[in-house]
Amino acid sequence: MSVKFFPPKLLFAVVFLAACGGCRSTPPGGDLPALEDMNVLLIVVDTMGAGHVGCLNPGLDTTPRIDELAKSGVRFTRAFSAAPWTQPSMSALMTGTTPSRTGVLHLFDSLPPRNVTLAERFRERGLATAGVVSHFLIDAKLGFNQGFDSYDESAVVNHHRAISSPKVYQAATADLDRLQDQHFFMFVHFFDPHSHYLHHPEFDRTAWYHGPVRNWDLKITELRKRLDELDEDGTRYLRDLYREEIAFTDHNIGMLLDHLDELGLRDNTLVILTADHGEEFMEHRWIGHTRNLFDTLLHVPLIVSLPGRLAPAEVDDPVSLLDIAPTLMGLSHTPVTDFRWDGVSLAGALQGHEEYPSDRVLFHEVAYPANKDEAGTPVAGRGTFLSAVTQGKWKLIHDVEHDQWSLFDRAADPGEYRDLWTREGPEVRTLQERLLGWETGKVEHWGVGKPLDKRLDKDLEKRLRSLGYIR
Ligand SMILES: [Zn+2]
Repeated sequence: MSVKFFPPKLLFAVVFLAACGGCRSTPPGGDLPALEDMNVLLIVVDTMGAGHVGCLNPGLDTTPRIDELAKSGVRFTRAFSAAPWTQPSMSALMTGTTPSRTGVLHLFDSLPPRNVTLAERFRERGLATAGVVSHFLIDAKLGFNQGFDSYDESAVVNHHRAISSPKVYQAATADLDRLQDQHFFMFVHFFDPHSHYLHHPEFDRTAWYHGPVRNWDLKITELRKRLDELDEDGTRYLRDLYREEIAFTDHNIGMLLDHLDELGLRDNTLVILTADHGEEFMEHRWIGHTRNLFDTLLHVPLIVSLPGRLAPAEVDDPVSLLDIAPTLMGLSHTPVTDFRWDGVSLAGALQGHEEYPSDRVLFHEVAYPANKDEAGTPVAGRGTFLSAVTQGKWKLIHDVEHDQWSLFDRAADPGEYRDLWTREGPEVRTLQERLLGWETGKVEHWGVGKPLDKRLDKDLEKRLRSLGYIR
């Protein structure tokens, strides 16, 4: 177990607040209400990698409001998504099962109704459920509204030069107003850090740059054609533009949390904040996400906060977004007993009754069929079919299509640049056996060699291309 508690002074402040009613001290951990007796607000920021969030990177000032939330709760320094892009990552988060088990692995996959979503589990337990989303890849047409009483998609806009966080904020505050007198589960999804990266003058971080990239067409598809021309400063400019989008989103999240306060709901609403995946800025010769399983794409922030009931702490043990669903259900009066989660419940650990699991084995996957050429044949080498297993400092990645392996020591080499696959050792063999065993048990077929099935209309195809999902 590796948990750091905040300095006694800060803890005292929280304990003091908690103790106003009964004058008892709160031990590290806390005493959370049952799920049925509180509200849950799940905030997911699309494309916000852990490396760009202030509370995980001392000295970085991108996210003052998220940092405030982190100070009030438990922040996990090593949280990982199951997949490096929206649809599989969100399907895993919402079900507590791996993307391949949910059936959402490829672009355009709908969430099959056989899945039991968090929203359905909340609704079964008598809570109102509301979703506010801003990305068409998790819209109702693709089944992601399963279990939600309401699912507001008014913030899904054409993201080419569009900004959606204020719309998300408006829709979410309207839902809070509407549901304030009953217990609810609310899912709020922000999208602005996703490409295009747009300038926000009030959160300027790019005034320092006067080079040529300032005049480039920043469509992700155009950017990817010019990767060879990108120098260090040009790359940093793009990263800083992206951080402006994060700062702007953070501001809107802050206003949403303020509204929760104004309604008097903060003390009875468990707030969980995370991201579906990160973003790469040439760390591995790529811009954007979807195509690899490095930590730039898998490492995300995860904060759980309920002031006065959950003592602030920093947890360094590895956790997965797959843990969110079993953790929430672990707080219910009627726990889930007839279901095999792929994550674990952290409910006991959050409350200080148990230790956090420290030697977790986590699996990750991505399956991205190649585009077709003019003749309708998949373009060789354009697909991405990878699985990975991590344990402790090790990450083993398997390129399933080409049966190639890479091994990284993330303690000595956090950037995952030095492939140690030729290294011998029992730990390497054990990891490989684990990963092969996991691949064998996968429910969904990889789809290696199959072309991308474009079932959707031309307009949607254009939107997907503009966001870099297809080439
Ligand atoms: Zn995403």
